[in-house]
Amino acid sequence: MELRLLGTGDAFGSGGRLQTCFHLSGGGGDILLDCGASALIALKRAGLDPNDIGWVLLTHLHGDHFGGLPFFILDAQFNHRSQPLVVAGPPGVAARLEAAMEALYPGSARKPRAFEIIFQEILPEVPVEVGPARVTPFPVAHPSGAPAYALRVEYGGKVIAYSGDTEWTEALVEAAHGADLFLCECCFWEPKARYHLDYQTLREKRPLLDCRRLLLTHLGKEMHQHLKEIEFEVAQEGERISF
Ligand SMILES: [Zn+2]
Ligand SMILES: [Zn+2]
Repeated sequence: MELRLLGTGDAFGSGGRLQTCFHLSGGGGDILLDCGASALIALKRAGLDPNDIGWVLLTHLHGDHFGGLPFFILDAQFNHRSQPLVVAGPPGVAARLEAAMEALYPGSARKPRAFEIIFQEILPEVPVEVGPARVTPFPVAHPSGAPAYALRVEYGGKVIAYSGDTEWTEALVEAAHGADLFLCECCFWEPKARYHLDYQTLREKRPLLDCRRLLLTHLGKEMHQHLKEIEFEVAQEGERISF
């Protein structure tokens, strides 16, 4: 199975990086893990056909994590998608996506289309099958108008954990426990604002994270200014990781 890190930036293009978008393949069907506003650009740069993606799995409902869906759906419509698209995310995901579509392209949400969109609400600490993956959502601290999750994704015989956006919470210890790879957001260099992680806190908490490999993602401006000092592995945009 393969994980492609298509978008590893924050919401604001820091370091010229794209917004969050990870692609899982080779485990029985292609899954997109978060779909930031730039996701379609990321997919097309990587030479991936969005119509091959069967499931979009969302950590939380912020624009840099789900704002790519209106474009994804319109593109699918124009490119004759026929297979259903499953959108799995926190409670309220259908209404939030409809509102986003109507704000950006009025009339687009209710327009008849040749493929079905199936919404799957995922609930805190309830493991659930999302297509070929088994997903466990852990509630984290990141207000976004709906519950925000760290996700533990069992896929292709491996465990990928992803923090989503959050300040430090013990939920990350649980989500990352025994994971083959833990993608962890690291927005700031030092504690700066609530609801996001910073490098100093992560360094302090690192011994608690029982994962085989840790990769920092969602790097903000200050993180880019300190790149040479970072002692952890940093996600590289476009990186392909095979398991
Ligand atoms: Zn967020
Ligand atoms: Zn974010």
